[in-house]
Amino acid sequence: MNVRRLPNTGAPKLGSINEKFTAVILRTSNNNWAEIQFSKTQKGWISLNTSSTVVTTKKPIQVSDPIDNVLAGYKIVLDAGHGGTDPGAIGKDLKGKKVTEAELTLASAKAIQKAIEDVGGTVSMTRSTTAALNSNKTKDLAARAASSAKVGANAFISIHYNSASSSAEGLEALYYQTSSKKFATVIQKNIMKAVNQKYPNVKDRGPKHQNVMVLRENTVFATLIELGFVSNAKELSRINTDTYRQTVAEGVVNGLIEYYKK
Ligand SMILES: [Zn+2]
Repeated sequence: MNVRRLPNTGAPKLGSINEKFTAVILRTSNNNWAEIQFSKTQKGWISLNTSSTVVTTKKPIQVSDPIDNVLAGYKIVLDAGHGGTDPGAIGKDLKGKKVTEAELTLASAKAIQKAIEDVGGTVSMTRSTTAALNSNKTKDLAARAASSAKVGANAFISIHYNSASSSAEGLEALYYQTSSKKFATVIQKNIMKAVNQKYPNVKDRGPKHQNVMVLRENTVFATLIELGFVSNAKELSRINTDTYRQTVAEGVVNGLIEYYKK
C-alpha cells in the first residue's frame, strides 16, 4: 500500500507499507484517509478505503519495520536553468500573462527538491534564488556543470522549459554522454508516466542526444529535462501550476528510485 504526502491518490508517493505494518493514526481526513507516522522522521497518508486490515486503531500500538528512506545516500544536483539577467524563453499564457522560463525552472527545481528530500535523498541546488551563478553566460554554465564534482553528487538534472512554434508541445530529456542515455531515458519515462496519469494527452518527445554545455562538461550521469513549451499558451497555462510541478516531481523521484534500485 502506498504512503502519500497528502490524502489523495494523485499526491507524491513517499513510500509503501505491507499488510503487517501497524501504526498510530494521527488524524483522519474527510475522504477516509489516515495520517500515520511511518518512519522515525516521516508522516504520510494512507487510504483507509483500501487498508481495512492494516491500521484500524487510534490507540498507540507499535510502529514496526519503518520503511527505508529509499533515496538515502544519494545526492542529486538540481539545476534551475537560466536566472539573473537571462530570463530564458518568455511566453504568454492564455490570459496574456507574461511568464519567464527562469521563474518556471526555479519553481520546478524547488518542487523536485522537496520530493527528493521527502524520501531521504540529498539535493544540491545550483541556484535557489533568482540570481545566476555568474553574469558571464559561459562561466555560469561551466559553474553549473562543475557543481556535480564539487558537491560529490551521484547525478545532475538540469531543468528547462522549451520554446518553438506556438503549436509545439510536450516533454523531452536530453543527454550527451552515452553513459547518461539510460539515466535520461528512465527519468523521462517516469515523468511521462506521472504526467500522463493526470494529463493524458501530453506528448512524449522522448530522450534525445544533444550537445549542451551543462551535460557535455558534467562528470556524473546527467540529463536536461525540458518540461513543456512556454511558446504554447495552452501548454504554458497548464505547466505553470503547482499541480503540474508536483506531478513532474513525483515522476522524477520515481525515476531516480527505478534507476538506483533496479
Ligand atoms: Zn532553457
